[in-house]
Amino acid sequence: MTALLRTSCREATRLIELRALQPLTPRERLGLFWHLRICAACRAYRKHSAAIDHLMVRRADDAPSVDASSVEQAVLRRISE
Ligand SMILES: [Zn+2]
Repeated sequence: MTALLRTSCREATRLIELRALQPLTPRERLGLFWHLRICAACRAYRKHSAAIDHLMVRRADDAPSVDASSVEQAVLRRISE
């Protein structure tokens, strides 16, 4: 139990980012849970990280798709002019 309470802020922020990519182990989840209960800074980090992730997904959904081959052809045309 005391080891779980010793999760550092550095480890907590690493776990916050990692859990967006892959499931955490039960030990990691528990360590992060207890750390977040006692650390306002990491709770704020988690909140901002989630907001940034949400905005990035929205931006990716709104971005027009780019046809890489047409861009390449346009660049080659401009170079040859
Ligand atoms: Zn912290």
